[in-house]
Amino acid sequence: MNTPLVFKFGGASVRDAASVRNVATIVQRFQDRPLVVVVSAMGKTTNALEEVVQHWLRAEWDRMKETIQSIWDAHLGIVQELFGTPPADLLEQMQRWKDELLQDLKAEDRPYGAQYDAVVHKGELLSTAIVAAYLNLETPAQWLDTRRLVHTNDQHRRATVLWDATERAIVNAVSEPVVYVVQGFIGSAPNGLTTTLGREGSDYTGAVFAYCLGANSLTIWKDVPGMLNADPKVFPSPTLLRRLPFDEAIELAFYGASIIHPKTIQPLQKRGVPLHVKSFLHPELDGTVIEQCDAPEPQVPNYIQKSNQALLQVSMRDLAFIAEHHL
Ligand code: ASP
Ligand code: MG
Repeated sequence: MNTPLVFKFGGASVRDAASVRNVATIVQRFQDRPLVVVVSAMGKTTNALEEVVQHWLRAEWDRMKETIQSIWDAHLGIVQELFGTPPADLLEQMQRWKDELLQDLKAEDRPYGAQYDAVVHKGELLSTAIVAAYLNLETPAQWLDTRRLVHTNDQHRRATVLWDATERAIVNAVSEPVVYVVQGFIGSAPNGLTTTLGREGSDYTGAVFAYCLGANSLTIWKDVPGMLNADPKVFPSPTLLRRLPFDEAIELAFYGASIIHPKTIQPLQKRGVPLHVKSFLHPELDGTVIEQCDAPEPQVPNYIQKSNQALLQVSMRDLAFIAEHHL
């Protein structure tokens, strides 16, 4: 088998029918197989599902059902736009997940974290089912349930990956020279309940797959040309970082460069899997590669703006020696 390639597409890259078509075009540009495509929930679906959880918590049943209906309607709208005649099994699957969700929401006494995960993961199920079905029009694409592959502990909402079980499951599942479509962000606990890895966790899922498969590379497709030395929303004309060592990337992500989830780099560094950050709007451009190397290219300072910071000044009344650990 060839060494697999892993792609990750976030919510913005699958937010409507045109974006899903664009994802298919990108996937078809690359002939490497197996290709694992990790997909987040469409657009702001996870936020909308979090609202569902809030309504459940406050026993606002009507508003809860309205929100669910609007989430499903939005997805059905995209399906209608993508397919002349939507595949019957896709529509059935979407309906089953909705019924399952409504059923789960009847459990009024389920602990918050478990209920949160039982609700919010539906966004990734829906997006991946739609993307897989659409890809299948042109390219053999297989939908896989990440919950059977990414094994975690039972810490709901920020579960920790159990690496050995996860690696075994992923290596077993990814064995054919085809495109696999999997959900980012989700996993399952030893008791079988669905877990999630923390908001924006799909990048990390990409890294988990890339690590377990010893992938050739992981590519995170974004709406920016790559990693920049400053946030383009704050600083005009930032510089594109063409190449970045792993440790610099970890530092940048840790201090708030929001382009990649901070947990993403470590598994990649462990197995030397390069991370590409590329634009889904201009896939022909090189973007940024984060890999084992000595220095960034080009060598420029990086800027991170943190707003709404408060400075707290603490002083001792008895003029004793001040050291940070006293604080
Ligand atoms: N859909 C999830 C979220 O919005 C995971 C992700 O996007 O990475 O947080
Ligand atoms: Mg998202």
